[in-house]
Amino acid sequence: MDTKFLLGENQIPTHWYNVIPDLPGPPAPVLHPGTGKPIGPQDLLPLFPMGLIEQEVSSERWIKIPDPVREALRVWRPSPLFRARRLEAALKTPAKIYYKYEGVSPAGSHKPNTAVPQAYYNKIFGTKRIATETGAGQWGTSMAMASQMFGLECTVYMVKVSFEQKPYRKSMMQLWGAKVIASPSNLTNAGRGILAKDPNNQGSLGIAISEAVEDAATHDDTRYALGSVLNHVCMHQTVIGLEAKEQMKLAGDYPDVVIGCHGGGSNFAGIAFPFVADKSAGKKVRIVAVEPTSCPTLTKGVYAFDYGDTAKMAPIAKMYTLGHDFMPPGIHAGGLRYHGASPLVSQLLHAGVIEARAVPQLASFDAAVQFARTELIIPAPESSHAIRGAIDEALRAKEEGKERTILFNLSGHGHVDMAAYDAYFAGQLEDFEYPAEKVKESLAHLPKVG
Ligand SMILES: *Cc1c(COP(=O)(O)O)cnc(C)c1O
Repeated sequence: MDTKFLLGENQIPTHWYNVIPDLPGPPAPVLHPGTGKPIGPQDLLPLFPMGLIEQEVSSERWIKIPDPVREALRVWRPSPLFRARRLEAALKTPAKIYYKYEGVSPAGSHKPNTAVPQAYYNKIFGTKRIATETGAGQWGTSMAMASQMFGLECTVYMVKVSFEQKPYRKSMMQLWGAKVIASPSNLTNAGRGILAKDPNNQGSLGIAISEAVEDAATHDDTRYALGSVLNHVCMHQTVIGLEAKEQMKLAGDYPDVVIGCHGGGSNFAGIAFPFVADKSAGKKVRIVAVEPTSCPTLTKGVYAFDYGDTAKMAPIAKMYTLGHDFMPPGIHAGGLRYHGASPLVSQLLHAGVIEARAVPQLASFDAAVQFARTELIIPAPESSHAIRGAIDEALRAKEEGKERTILFNLSGHGHVDMAAYDAYFAGQLEDFEYPAEKVKESLAHLPKVG
């Protein structure tokens, strides 16, 4: 009985899947943060190359992956699909659990799946330098790696507290040739403004975004890159689900439930959207996004127009949101702390095509430890939310005495997150209650549009 289901390099998908034609209705417009009017491609050109802007608004179901991108993806794709036989045995469940493992990329997560095409479209557009932000560093490392592959310079504004306390991803970015700057910095107006008020400001993702956007907007040869949320990012990630479908065929199975952890929505979209296509064609499959209870965007947020960033510089999109000034607690799954969600994921949730649930931090670490002690791969704290979701489905199957086929996405490994495991074993982690008051306050600040 096979444990791994592997595809050859010639089975790397030839096309990305765009979910827009299979949505239950047309997507809501994206609005200009200053005027509140719908934005067009021209408004995005200072920030993104044309190739990506076209993908952002495309309603073609299949978009060809350019040969140089497919060539670059060969470094680690296709990624393996595993049957979690040891975990199943430990759970004594009748359920079958499969997981797609994205930690095999050089950066250790799914993020290079979009960093590579973003670098490529910038290269052919004539971009010389990428400016981007990173929190704990997963996106920065991925963009540094992809920039290295396509001969671009890369400047990463890294949230200062992570820059100082989580040095290893900074080292990885520097190794791949990126310039890493602690944010807030004195290189931008946004950063200087904040430092003038508070010289010891520890930074935030919102501030780092503002710095990277300003850098790109004020330099002709520089463009901005975002690692999640946007339509083209979700589309680039569909290589995950497209491969997984082929691998499930090899295993002679089809999932009853597909699970992904959810921060901004990109790895969830990657595993889920190809199954949304099946569902819209009439197939029966449940699709579940799992988020932390401390940042419960999908389960406790509202579906409304909101700014993409704290500084109100990013476009306004209709999405599930906790409010653009919502400040989530400092949980260890740093990649799941965004106030909003992908507009595509949001629309599917609102229409009832997909489901969402929230799990507490300790329960997700419990799941991560059980997984590492059976399947042996050390999961990223973010990915552990998907593991929790899968284990809970398997335990429910056991209670009900039913067979069930579960597929989840293991979005990355946790080798650079061992401090989080140390804190867990030292009993230093806590669960964060849903800060209902704070969310209510933030939701009062939504833009009055739409
Ligand atoms: C960034 C990250 C996430 C969260 O981002 P999404 O866009 O929601 O996928 C999840 N897992 C890992 C390993 C990450 O690095």
